[in-house]
This record gives sequence, structure tokens and C-alpha cells, in this order.
Amino acid sequence: MFVDIHTHIDNQSVIKIVDGCGERILTTVGVHPWELDRHFDWSEAEWSNEVSAIGEVGLDKAHRDTFGQQQEVFAQMIKLSETYRKPVIIHCVRAYSELIAMRKSTKAKMPWVIHGFNGSVETMRQLLKHDMYISLGEVLYRNETKAAEILKNLPVERLFLETDVSGREIKDVYSKAAALTGWEVGFLCKQIFENYGRLETTNGNIGG
Ligand SMILES: [Zn+2]
Repeated sequence: MFVDIHTHIDNQSVIKIVDGCGERILTTVGVHPWELDRHFDWSEAEWSNEVSAIGEVGLDKAHRDTFGQQQEVFAQMIKLSETYRKPVIIHCVRAYSELIAMRKSTKAKMPWVIHGFNGSVETMRQLLKHDMYISLGEVLYRNETKAAEILKNLPVERLFLETDVSGREIKDVYSKAAALTGWEVGFLCKQIFENYGRLETTNGNIGG
């Protein structure tokens, strides 16, 4: 069983669970920090059943001109996440301190998963201190040394893996992480599925 915590199908951001029998697609809803104008009618989302998580949403300093607006939108998403008890899949570029500040100021309790993490080990420690999860994808291929260093310092209970827009197979991403750590793919599958189960327990209907 392979959990792909963040990937895209058509224009939709999803969580995908792949096993021997096929795959299960779980919808997530969000607004990219660089597409704040894209309208989404939150009132129409069927929170109880259709939506498994909020995301991807977040903060991106590569789009500095809209950063203030990004923070406003993200604050609304945090509120929705807490109200409807949905985990949040987060896109964060060069804004980790602002992200942590918002976690603190909103007193958010829902799990936050930092997708596509490729920051420093020190940054990761700060995120872990605030109960966040770390999802790795392309960094495993683009910077093996850094990825290995991140994996060495990341408690496996906080790890997710993802394909995002890479077009890779999720099982190949697991093999890559296994090769960098010396862990068995089976161990990663079991552990990450447990991690996913922990997100699920925040939300009675995730995956339902
Ligand atoms: Zn994505």
C-alpha cells in the first residue's frame, strides 16, 4: 500500500492510495498561493464526505507581490481546517518563519503536511517542533545528499512521500527513499500508512 500524499489529477490536487488492487483517489481542495483569484465556492464543498484535506494552500515568497493576500487566504484556510477538522497540505516557499508564526497565532491543532519539502535540517526541526509532517518528493532525485540528510534527521512517524507534478510512479519514490536510507520499501509503506491513519483520525470521514 503506497500513500501518495500530494499529487495532481487534471487540475485537482489529490491524495492517492495505491495497492495491488488499484488506486483510491481522495479529493483535497485548496488555492495555490499564486492563483489566489481562482474562485472556489467553499460553501458548496461537501465537507463531511467529499473533501479529505485542505490543500494545497500556503505561502510563497516567489510571488512576493501577493504575499499579504496569501497570508489572508491562508488564515481563512486554517480556520476552515480547524472548523471542519481537515488536515492541511501546505505549499511553502521561503516563508517558513511566517508559516510557523501563523501556526502559533492561530493556535491551529490540525495536522499540517509540508509538501515538497527541500529546506534545511534546521528549518525542518522548527517545523517538527510545531507538530508538522514533512513530505518529500523531487528532492530525493535532485539533491540526494540533502535528501539523505533530511531523512536521517526526520522521525519516520512524520514522513510522507509524494509525486506532485513529477509524473513518477509513487512506488518508485518509495524505492528511492529506501535506497537513500537503507530502510525496506515494506517498512516505509507500513510506517507511512500509519502516519496517514493518524491524519485520518482527526477527521471522521477522510478516505471514506
Ligand atoms: Zn502540487
